[in-house]
Amino acid sequence: MSKVIAVFNQKGGVGKTTTNVNLSASLGKKGKKTLVLDLDPQGNTTSGYGIDKTTVENTIYEVMLDNLSIKDAIIKTEFENVDIVSSATDLAGAEIELASIENREYVLKKAIKEVKKDYDYIFVDCPPSLGMLTINCLTAVDSVLIPIQCEYYALEGVSQLMETIKLVKSRLNPDIDIQGVVLSMFDGRANLSIQVVDEVKKYFKGSVYTTLIPRNVRLAEAPSHGKPVIYYDDKCRGTIAYMELAEEFIDLEEDVI
Ligand code: ADP
Ligand code: MG
Repeated sequence: MSKVIAVFNQKGGVGKTTTNVNLSASLGKKGKKTLVLDLDPQGNTTSGYGIDKTTVENTIYEVMLDNLSIKDAIIKTEFENVDIVSSATDLAGAEIELASIENREYVLKKAIKEVKKDYDYIFVDCPPSLGMLTINCLTAVDSVLIPIQCEYYALEGVSQLMETIKLVKSRLNPDIDIQGVVLSMFDGRANLSIQVVDEVKKYFKGSVYTTLIPRNVRLAEAPSHGKPVIYYDDKCRGTIAYMELAEEFIDLEEDVI
C-alpha cells in the first residue's frame, strides 16, 4: 500500500525540510521505496539531496504548469531507494499562475496519481506560506506529518494549522488525516524542551511520536554536503534519531494495516 504524506507546519524553521530529507532517506535505507516532492521554491529539500535545482530541466514546475508527466521529472538520487522531483526557482510564480487553471486545487493530486503505486511512501515538502502550492499539497495527500520545534511558543500557530487542515478536510480532501507529530530540536538538558514535549503531548494526545529529534549539529551540517545525515555521519545522534523515527513510523503504519 502506498501513502502520500505532507510535511507541514505554517511556521518556518521548525524542521520540516530536515525531517523530510532525513525521514525519507532513513525509510529508503530500510528498504522502502520513497519519492520526495519539493514544493518549496527555496528548494532546500532538493539541495539537501545534492541536487542543484537551477540545473534541472524537468521540475515540479513543469509538472504542475506545463503538463509534463511526473514520470519525466523523477530523478533517481544517489541514495538508497529515494527518488526526487526537484523544486524550481520559478515555483514562486506558480502561486499566481495556478490561480487561472481549472480545478487548480487538484493539479498535484492528478500528477501524483500517475506514480503513486510505484512507491511505498511519497513525501511532499510544503512552503511555509498558505498559498495555492500548499493547498495543492494538502489536497493531494493522505496525511500530514507535523514537525514542532521544542522552543518557547512551540504551540503558537498550531491552532491555525489545525484550522487549515480542518478546512481542507471539509472542502477538498475529506480523507486527510494526521500522520503524526515530530518534536524536533529537543535538548534533554533544557527544562524548556521537556515542558514543550509535555504541552505538545497534551494537545495532540496519542499522535506524538515517542522518538524525539535532538538538536544535533550534524543535522545542520549535512545539507551543505548535499547528503542526508545518515550518509554524512552514520553514527551521530541525528542519524540515530531519524532511523528510530523511521522504525516507529513503519511500525505504526503496519499496525494500522
Ligand atoms: P523548515 O523547513 O521548517 O523551515 P528546516 O528543516 O530548514 O526548517 O530547519 C531550520 C534550520 O534548523 C536549518 O538550518 C536546519 O539545518 C536546522 N535544524 C533543523 N533541525 C535541526 C536539529 N534537529 N538540530 C540542529 N539543527 C537543526
Ligand atoms: Mg523548509
